[in-house]
Amino acid sequence: MFRQNYGCSHLIVGRDHAGVGDYYGPFDAQNIFNEIPTGALVLRPLCMDWTFYCYECGTMASMKTCPHDSKAVIDENGAYKGGARLLLSGTMLRKLMSEGKPVPSEFSKPEVIAILKEYYDSLEEKVEVKLNKFATGEAKE
Ligand SMILES: [Zn+2]
Repeated sequence: MFRQNYGCSHLIVGRDHAGVGDYYGPFDAQNIFNEIPTGALVLRPLCMDWTFYCYECGTMASMKTCPHDSKAVIDENGAYKGGARLLLSGTMLRKLMSEGKPVPSEFSKPEVIAILKEYYDSLEEKVEVKLNKFATGEAKE
């Protein structure tokens, strides 16, 4: 409602949209739109499936667009070692940044990573980020 009132015509609703750990299911934020009567909202939800970078497809993909199913392997230096799907999770990105670990280039543009790195390096208290099963791709509703 807030976004509609601010003039948005569409809302992208992703996997684990609330991002509060395992409290909600990965697609609960999408399912709730099924309970809203047709025409009650001007805003249109755009419900996105699991998305990831696929090394086999060579681009961003989703479960609906990518036929590959192996999980990409990234070493401790952020280098690609094999497999197809690299889940792009905001939680995983925050964890890598907070631990000062390298971030695979497929996560974001280097300019953005540099800005985030500067921020995380400036923190006096390090933030511990716990991965939930949605952030790692281990849970698939
Ligand atoms: Zn693929």
